[in-house]
Amino acid sequence: MSFRLRLALLFVATLIVIQLVTGVLMYEVARRGVIAEGERQLAAGADSVARQLDDMSTRVADNVHVLALDYALRTAIAQRDEGTVLSALRNHGRRIGADRMMLIGLDGLIRSDTSDTSDVGHAFPYEDLVEASLDHPAAAVVALGSKAYWMIVVPVYAPSPIALIAAAIPVDDALLKHLQHLSALPNMLELITRNAAGHWSDIALGGERAVAPQVTSHGDLPMEPTVVTVNGYEYVALAKRLRESQRSAPVAVLLSYSLDDALQPYRSVTLAWGILLALGLAGGLVGAMLIARSVARPIEILAETARRIESGDYTPAPRMRERGEVGQLAAAFANMTHAIAEREEQIRHQARHDAVTTLPNRQAAEETIGRSLDESPQATGVLLMIGLARLPEIIQTLGHTIGDRVMRDAGARLRALADGASVARATDTQFSLWLIGAGIEEALILARRALDALVTPYREADISLDTAPAVGIALSPVHGRDAGALLRRAEVALIAATGAEHPIVVYNPTTDPHRPERLSLMGDLRKAVGADELLLSYQPKLHLASGVIDSVEALLRWRHPVRGLLPPDLFIGLAERTGNIREVSRWVIDRSIAQAADWTRRGHPLRVAINLSARDLDDDRLPDLIADRLAAHAVQPACVLLELTESAVMNDPETAIRVFGRLADQGVDLAIDDFGIGQSSFAYLRRLPVREIKIDRLFTQSLALDSSDRELVRSMVELGHRLGYRVTAEGVETVEALEYLRTIGCDHVQGYHIAKAMAPDAVEAMLQRMAAGTLAGVSA
Ligand code: C2E
Ligand code: CA
Ligand code: CA
Repeated sequence: MSFRLRLALLFVATLIVIQLVTGVLMYEVARRGVIAEGERQLAAGADSVARQLDDMSTRVADNVHVLALDYALRTAIAQRDEGTVLSALRNHGRRIGADRMMLIGLDGLIRSDTSDTSDVGHAFPYEDLVEASLDHPAAAVVALGSKAYWMIVVPVYAPSPIALIAAAIPVDDALLKHLQHLSALPNMLELITRNAAGHWSDIALGGERAVAPQVTSHGDLPMEPTVVTVNGYEYVALAKRLRESQRSAPVAVLLSYSLDDALQPYRSVTLAWGILLALGLAGGLVGAMLIARSVARPIEILAETARRIESGDYTPAPRMRERGEVGQLAAAFANMTHAIAEREEQIRHQARHDAVTTLPNRQAAEETIGRSLDESPQATGVLLMIGLARLPEIIQTLGHTIGDRVMRDAGARLRALADGASVARATDTQFSLWLIGAGIEEALILARRALDALVTPYREADISLDTAPAVGIALSPVHGRDAGALLRRAEVALIAATGAEHPIVVYNPTTDPHRPERLSLMGDLRKAVGADELLLSYQPKLHLASGVIDSVEALLRWRHPVRGLLPPDLFIGLAERTGNIREVSRWVIDRSIAQAADWTRRGHPLRVAINLSARDLDDDRLPDLIADRLAAHAVQPACVLLELTESAVMNDPETAIRVFGRLADQGVDLAIDDFGIGQSSFAYLRRLPVREIKIDRLFTQSLALDSSDRELVRSMVELGHRLGYRVTAEGVETVEALEYLRTIGCDHVQGYHIAKAMAPDAVEAMLQRMAAGTLAGVSA
């Protein structure tokens, strides 16, 4: 039940209770008044009735007395003239309204009777009246059968009493009505008598209703005003005994006063009161609802507002005109809403911003990038990751306070040049700059401006700090279509740029050690060996002195079922890290020795160079394996050349010396690959059974342009020869390079200018063409 309804109900219930109590009280007061009035009226009425009856009896007695003085009657009585007596009695009786006239002898016997002759000779029943009448006219009300009479007894003197005259005047309904009329009382008047059984019953009625039988049902008369209920109606009743003959049954008048009649005027008042109550209730209900509404409505609004705040909606509650407590509550509520909203905004801001630089943090940057990519999916975008490489060092030496100030300063510099790009602090030492709708050119311009802004050292008091900034760039959609990927890739590029001579690097997927496709390649590579997806290409090596191709290098390829033909750079490093390289190497060794055997059988004895990985040196059974394969395919050990990079050797020289020692014992030659770029120590090289060095293509490619490279290559060739090594130059792409190498006495050349790596039958076809002299420019 709502607060509002409860309030209204309480209001109305209170109203009803007050009205009802008032009504009952008023009714009770009215009733008491009516009863008191009734009692007063009854008392007065009873006295008046008794007095009037007495008056009437006196008058009648006087009349009878006058009759008794009638001379003719006295004479007739004296003469015992029955007929005259009777006629006189009848005449007089009619005149005074008596029903019955009797002549009674002094002996008490009835001598004449106008109505009932059978009584003549019998004793007159009311002898007390007879006795009393000798002093004064005696009168009493007597009950005769179901009727009441005044029995008036008067002596007849002549001059002494000679007889008595009794007159019975009926006290009937008409008389009572007359009395009631005279007294002008609204009461009911009844004349009652008690029968032999002791019950009181009516003998005459002054009104329409008779209440005597019920009122007197206990045999007692209400001698005091008494409230009684008869047939559901209330009366105040009062009885008064009349002067009566001792010989007669008791006679009384019963006056009763109807409360209901008396209360009749109040009925209409009650009705009006009821209507008023109903109207008041209706009005009260409406009023109560309105008041309850005015009280409950603001509270409901506040409750609704609280619910909204709970769900994160801080729009303030509608203004309320309420004053007092509710108004104060509303105002407090509005303040609270405002404060919560402010605090939440602050928390949200803190969650999305870096406290030091006040720039958005990485999460906010990610959201910004994601949002702008969602809004314009077709647009390109560039993400710059700007790192301060020296910051950790600065923090370590000067503390975090300075570190924070350096970052704040760098953030401010970047913000100043951002110009539409979103700047954020991506990590402790990195900022990100995101520009939607831009391409590589804009990215490079922005990167240069960022570097320009940051290379100026940070100055404070007497210190000047160089932060060593670098920029990594990732492009959308080429390098990724979601914020996370772009951030990661820009970071990879930044790592490559950090410390580099040219500190701006655009992300390059092929050099990314973290790119996800490598994960799937790892799984695929295990199956590749067994699934016959690996194959070998052979790159010819030209012997410059003879102009003959006398050897080839076996280069591995992976025909990936999904990605197509993959170069070894993409999976060799992976195979080394996952431990699959041994299996791969065994396969390469077996295939290339088998191929050498095949070529020899077909009249082309070629030396095959096999690339080994540093991890192959850990395999103690490698020499045995090679020996086993050579034997199996009946190939001379001199037909195999093992290549190991300079850096692989320097990684673990002792192992290399041990393994290659055993291989050299078997007659297998060893070449140092990528010579010149690793930090070779000739001391170690001298201890290895090396037969050949392969100058890295880095040096041969710019031979035509760079004279210092030419000198370098020349001294490498000379040094190699002096140490007794054959020298091969890799990456020979031009005729100029070839000619120069020839002049300085390099033994072998290898490179695209001679031939790319090719299938075995293509090698054979090339050899045949050279033998026929149809291949120009190589051997010349
Ligand atoms: P590498 O031993 O230095 O092999 C020579 C690489 O230079 C080959 O790349 C070859 O195609 C390329 N090349 C040859 N002539 C020229 C030229 O004139 N100009 C240029 N720019 N490049 C030229 P490839 O086949 O991609 O092999 C890359 C590397 O993969 C090899 O470098 C080698 O270290 C490794 N590798 C290849 N096959 C195997 C193998 O079977 N086992 C092991 N462990 N490593 C292998
Ligand atoms: Ca090689
Ligand atoms: Ca090489």
